[in-house]
Amino acid sequence: MKTVSVLGGGESGVGAALLAQQKGYKVFVSDYGLIPEKYKSELLEYKILFEERGHSFEKIVDSDIIIKSPGIPDESNLIKELIAQGKKHISEIEFASKFYNGQIISVTGSNGKSTTVSLIYNLLHDAGLNVGLGGNIGYAFSRLLIEEKEYDYIVLELSSFQLDDVYDFRSDIAVLLNISADHLDRYDYDISKYTASKWRLIERVRNGGMVILNKEDVLTQGLLEENSITDKVIQISSKDPIKSLSKDNGDLFEINLLGQHNLFNAAVAKTIAMELNIPEDVIQKGLLSFNALEHRLEKVAEINGVIYINDSKATNVDAVKYALSAVDLPMIWIAGGTDKGNDYTELVELVEGNVKVLICLGIDCLKLKDAFSNVIPEILETQAMSEAVSLANKKAVDNEVVLLSPACASFDLFDNYIHRGNEFKKEVFKIKSGIL
Ligand code: ADP
Repeated sequence: MKTVSVLGGGESGVGAALLAQQKGYKVFVSDYGLIPEKYKSELLEYKILFEERGHSFEKIVDSDIIIKSPGIPDESNLIKELIAQGKKHISEIEFASKFYNGQIISVTGSNGKSTTVSLIYNLLHDAGLNVGLGGNIGYAFSRLLIEEKEYDYIVLELSSFQLDDVYDFRSDIAVLLNISADHLDRYDYDISKYTASKWRLIERVRNGGMVILNKEDVLTQGLLEENSITDKVIQISSKDPIKSLSKDNGDLFEINLLGQHNLFNAAVAKTIAMELNIPEDVIQKGLLSFNALEHRLEKVAEINGVIYINDSKATNVDAVKYALSAVDLPMIWIAGGTDKGNDYTELVELVEGNVKVLICLGIDCLKLKDAFSNVIPEILETQAMSEAVSLANKKAVDNEVVLLSPACASFDLFDNYIHRGNEFKKEVFKIKSGIL
């Protein structure tokens, strides 16, 4: 019996383990930390061997296949040792792709992946196509394949970490939305390593497939010049996405989302839907019925003429750039958290005259204060969401916006961006219900 070792016991690791077992492999899951309860109970239920708080190197190195979860960096001792011994590892995406024969539509990029894959999924689903959605959103690709249901199309959200270890994986339609500085801590602070990882998706398109790129994205266009592509390439303008949103009769498709970046995301989804011959009226209905995903420019409430927006998922500068551009009212901006090597220079112009108060929410606010002290009239500091929202509530007046768009990761004060966004919403609802 062939053996598989899966490194990491999260969604992708456990998904891979379940699929591997179903395909007849003897499976072992190894996690350096603790495996979350819900995944542990699945492993127990399916009698899959696992270990926590450490790796049994000898057992892992002897496996026929080693699957590495995307959260594990190549710099970890285990991976360094495996590489030193000439042992190859693959990603869960690579493993799952060996067991799927339908079409794959995959999306990568620094920002907009979840929104765009959800839009694509909705349009295909509304058109009655047999479609699944997974990858870096919701369920692991592998988990979709252990279901009884067989999909004609699977829409995959793929992060750079997932792409690092793909080899024979192929998409039918591959989308690269944009590339901006993010996760550089995992790429030796070398943006070319990060861009190369994103490009691995574009290099892996099946014959007769299609590639969709962002026409004005400088790093993407640089990659396109360096690498020749033989597939059909469609370039969509992120600066003027309306151009790609017209119907046959010249009317424009309408959407129900804030911001130019979402027009771009919608243009990508619409282009794919048209490629699959989905009728315009179905596309229009689907685009209009799609509301912002939670924590992405999500309108939480309007209280005394002040609009509260939760953009907790904006964990890098580029996402905040789009959030600030999407709002055309004076703003109280809540930002801060764990800095990932941010350069705030490109936000200065957008902030000037538009943000009247910056509330820095984080353990270390020095960098934000340095960047904006000459630009924003008032800068306040706090380490509690309750205080951040209460300060914002005091400062905001009719026809203003309170925007949580942090530009940073959340791990200094919160479990993750979801926890941060939920805390924001909880505090806003307290104000709305008159508790505060
Ligand atoms: P991802 O899955 O790539 O993190 P999301 O759809 O979850 O992308 O959105 C993350 C953040 O990026 C949100 O703040 C959202 O408003 C912003 N965003 C969404 N689409 C784009 C885009 N095309 N360009 C820049 N920022 C975007």
